[in-house]
Amino acid sequence: MMFRATILTLFPEMFPGPLGCSLAGRAREQAIWSLNCVNIRDFGQGRHRAVDDTPFGGGAGMVMRPDVLDAAIGSVADDRPLIALTPRGTPLTQSRVKTLSTGGGVILLCGRYEGFDQRVLDARNAEEISIGDYVLSGGEIAALALLDATIRLLPGVMGAAESADEESFSAPLLEYPHYTRPADWNGHAVPETLLSGHHQAITAWRRSQAETITRTRRPDLWAHHIASQPARP
Ligand code: SAH
Repeated sequence: MMFRATILTLFPEMFPGPLGCSLAGRAREQAIWSLNCVNIRDFGQGRHRAVDDTPFGGGAGMVMRPDVLDAAIGSVADDRPLIALTPRGTPLTQSRVKTLSTGGGVILLCGRYEGFDQRVLDARNAEEISIGDYVLSGGEIAALALLDATIRLLPGVMGAAESADEESFSAPLLEYPHYTRPADWNGHAVPETLLSGHHQAITAWRRSQAETITRTRRPDLWAHHIASQPARP
């Protein structure tokens, strides 16, 4: 089954952008996923194809019109999830990405200006997703991030060499540090265990590094990890 990504945006020229390169680019050539951009401007109102208007209640900036957005969504809507990229949405997680990668695709709505009229999100039952606690100038980079994370998990995209099994967030732990040649770089040596060839010791070392890094950098993930461990008898 091909994963179909449809993007509703005022800037279709931003796509595929980075998704045309490397893993995602190759996967698209192999028809593992497809990309379709819809220009919201095509559904704009009047001679100037207006897509936004001033906010009711006053305040700065412009709001994207519900009638325009709804017509754009209606031109592509099907049984795929409709996701609106918004800074106040549910934070994107690896687990959501994994679930998306097992489905038939997504429809992504990219905002500009102050964002969307709330009514169209409600009427279309859009899922709101944020890529982090900061404000971008538009949803396009957020859509690229969501798609990049999803596409690399599609069957056939990553080879064994790029396996996702041991990565940060796959387990609820952050990843252990990596080292490659040279074994001595400007007097900085590679941790000895990694050169030992002792497979079990290496696994234990990596595990303990992952635990320490998670505990110190991300107490929130660590607490979650501890809570999910089976209780000791
Ligand atoms: N007024 C809004 C910000 C609008 S930013 C607010 O304060 O919440 C313009 C657009 O950029 C948004 O409509 C959204 O589509 C996108 N955007 C900005 N930050 C984002 C984030 N962290 N995650 C996902 N999309 C974001």
